[in-house]
Parts: sequence; C-alpha cells; structure tokens
Amino acid sequence: AIELINLTKKYGKQEVLNSFSLDIDKGKCLAIMGESGSGKSTIAKIIIGLENQNSGEVKIFEKERDMKNVSKEIEFLFQDSYNALNPRMTVEDLIFEPLQFLPNIDRSKKKEIVLELLEQVELSSELLERKRDELSGGQLQRVCLARALSTKPQIIIFDESLSGLDPLIQDKILDLLYRLQKKYQLTYIFISHDFRLCYFLADRIILIDKGKIIEDFKELDKEIIPKTEIGKILLEDIL
Ligand code: ATP
Ligand code: MG
Repeated sequence: AIELINLTKKYGKQEVLNSFSLDIDKGKCLAIMGESGSGKSTIAKIIIGLENQNSGEVKIFEKERDMKNVSKEIEFLFQDSYNALNPRMTVEDLIFEPLQFLPNIDRSKKKEIVLELLEQVELSSELLERKRDELSGGQLQRVCLARALSTKPQIIIFDESLSGLDPLIQDKILDLLYRLQKKYQLTYIFISHDFRLCYFLADRIILIDKGKIIEDFKELDKEIIPKTEIGKILLEDIL
C-alpha cells in the first residue's frame, strides 16, 4: 500500500532517517516499535506529508505522495487526537465534521451517517449530544476513530493512540480495531511502545533504532528471536 524508498530526513543537523526503505503491505497491520526519539513519528509524518523528507520517495498505491492521495486514502490517529477536537461541538457534529464539505455527501442524512459510524465504533447513540469534555478517554478515542472512518480511508496510522488508556479499555479498542481491519481490509501502521498491543494486532513488527530497521519480525506465529542487543533488551520482558 505504501512504499518508502531511501528516505533521508534531517532536523537541522540532526539526521533522523538515513536511506530508510520499507514496503507496507495492503490489508495488513505493520507495527513500528522503537525507543523514544528513534524516528517513528517522523516516519508517520513524512507519510502523510506533515514533514517533508530531504531525499527519497513516498509512494501510496504506486503513486507519488501528494495531498490528494493522502487525504483520500489515509487517516491518522495519535495519542492526543482528542485535544484537537473542538470542545464546543457535539459528538454528532464532531463525527460529521470531516464529511461536511465533501461534494458527494447528503447533509440531510447527517444523523443517519453519524449513527452508523457510532455503531461501527460501538458507542451508544446516547452520546450524540455530548461534548468533548463530557466523554471518557476510551470514548474519546472511539469518537476519533469514528471521525477517521467517516472518510472511508484505506490506510490508518496510529501513533501511540492507545497509550494512556487503561489496559482493559486498550484491549476493547484493540479488538474493535482488529474487527474493523478485517471487515474493510484496512492497512494499519501501528506505532507503539507496547509490544503486547503490537503483537495482538500486527502481521509484522519492525523495531527501529536511530532511524534504521534493526529487527523485522514477519512470522509472528513462530518464535520471535531478536538478533540485536537493543532488540533483546526491548523484548526481554515479554519473550
Ligand atoms: P517517541 O517514541 O518519543 O514518540 P519517536 O520515535 O516518535 O519518539 P520522533 O518524534 O520521530 O521520535 O523524533 C526523532 C528525533 O527527531 C528526536 O530526536 C526528536 O527530538 C527529533 N525531532 C522530531 N521532530 C522534530 C522537529 N520538528 N524539529 C527538530 N527535531 C525534531
Ligand atoms: Mg513519536
């Protein structure tokens, strides 16, 4: 679905990515793990064009990345996505917001569309009139997910989007993400520090360090054996 080819990225003099290449398969979940500062969010930001690479290419479904294919195919959820939600808007308006100005949307069906999306993310229709600050952390993540799904993306990037939720809520949302992925054959890029979450959702887990892929686990049903010292340290608690 996405090809990253020889990406180099510098912030000032600091080189974050150096000839970084990665093929992300359509309909699969790729998890990206790595220590803080290793370049995970930078990769996500380059994919959606929030940052520009210094050199190299990003292709989305075989086409050069541009704002058009990014906005059509990709949605992006991060840990504090809900902070970007307008505190004065109701859940109904928030979920409809991304669709509001799209040409093929029938605005008279607004409520119907929103109710359908609420159902997708397993939120009660009783929340329609609530505002951002009247929702729990898990509910907020689901509202953000409903917004993301509203535009029917093929690819969703999650950058630590479940961090900070309690494990029980994480598991419920994870399970929902899994079912949505299968239902719509979505491509996921799931960035997380938490191996447990990655292992549940991912078809492939890569570990990056200083902007390079140091471990690449493609067969998660087999035993996972880290090759590098950093891999061993990061995974030692789990394996
Ligand atoms: P974390 O797990 O903490 O989210 P990360 O792997 O997502 O870390 P990035 O956000 O990609 O890391 O950052 C990689 C490096 O680039 C870090 O050293 C960071 O300080 C630096 N960096 C990120 N964004 C900028 C920016 N806009 N300007 C300057 N430096 C930046
Ligand atoms: Mg990050």
